[in-house]
Formats: sequence, structure tokens, C-alpha cells
Amino acid sequence: GPRIGVLALQGDVDAHARALAEVGAVAVPVRLPAQLAGLDGLVIPGGESSTLLKLAARDGMFAGLKGFAETMPVFGTCAGCILLARRVLRPEQASLGVLDATVERNGYGRQIDSAILETPTVLPGGAMEAVYIRAPRIVATGPAVEVLATRDGEPVLVRQGRLLAATFHPELSADRRVHRLFRDMAAAGGEAHRAA
Ligand code: GLN
Repeated sequence: GPRIGVLALQGDVDAHARALAEVGAVAVPVRLPAQLAGLDGLVIPGGESSTLLKLAARDGMFAGLKGFAETMPVFGTCAGCILLARRVLRPEQASLGVLDATVERNGYGRQIDSAILETPTVLPGGAMEAVYIRAPRIVATGPAVEVLATRDGEPVLVRQGRLLAATFHPELSADRRVHRLFRDMAAAGGEAHRAA
């Protein structure tokens, strides 16, 4: 299977590594930019996006991530989705700026900030369980962004070419459709990159 890195600075790294292994990918923890070399794709897990940014400011990691995200398959969940977005609100903060979307941090309010909901999706197999933990809200998307799942009509799983982003945590449910999709994106993208 494809070699898929999991950014291991902070957040729910292990659950993603297990989910990737379950779909036949080789999961590789990534703590330093040099470890991005030779990967077919990268998962940026949930956690706390401002903390991830602080940790990535060391060792040239932010620049390494940006370079990788500009050319290779990347899947961001929750805080990872925030890092991918072109624009971040509440508060505004730096990001990798590759996903043409505006994301509001903790966009579902404080009282109902975490929930497990049945989420409609266009992925084959019908609705899926979605675990939201202080989730961001995707408030705007550009024309190249395809909406794959929604919550109250708003996008919660989106794809823009080689980029995939979820405001929820597919790694915390048993349904592996999202990780299987990213495995296929990484397999295709990694090959295209090696051929180029
Ligand atoms: N609220 C977090 C943030 O703003 C994201 C939460 C998560 O990743 N589960 O970064």
C-alpha cells in the first residue's frame, strides 16, 4: 500500500495510524521535515491548530508542510482542516493556505461543541457517523472544492483535487470509507509525482 505520513507533533496521531493500517496503507509518523521525503501522502490530525502551528514553527516544519501540501495528497481532519484552509477566522491565524475555503474555529458554539451525528454523504454506501469535537465550520468554499458530506446543509467533508479535509474525526468511527478514499488519492498522487 501507499506510504502515508501522519503529522505527529500533537493530536490524535495513533487513531489515524490505525485507520490507515486497516485500509492497507503504511502509516509513518512525521516529526521532522526530512521525514516527508518519499511519502505518497500526509494526514494532519485533529488537536489544537494554534498549538500545531507553534510546534511546526520549529525545525523548518511549517515550510516543509507547506511545500508538501502544495504538491502532494494531504488529508486534514478538524485542526488539520483548519491548517489546510486558505482563510481562518475566530481568531484569524496563519495556515498552509492550500484549500480554497474559509474555516471558522470552534464554529458550532460552546454548549453543543461536541456531538456524534449521522451525516449525509455522496460517498457510496449512504450516510456515515461523524464525530465532532470542538469542530471548525467551513463557512465558504471556492469553485474547485467538491462537497462530499454535509451537516445541516453545510460542508463537513470536502475534496479539492489531491486535498481532502473533514471537520469531523473519521478516524474515531469504525467506517473506513474516508480513509479508503484518501489511501486511493495517495496511491494515485504519489505515483503521478514519482512519474513527473
Ligand atoms: N478546536 C480546535 C482548533 O481550533 C480543533 C479541534 C479538533 O481538532 N478536534 O484547532
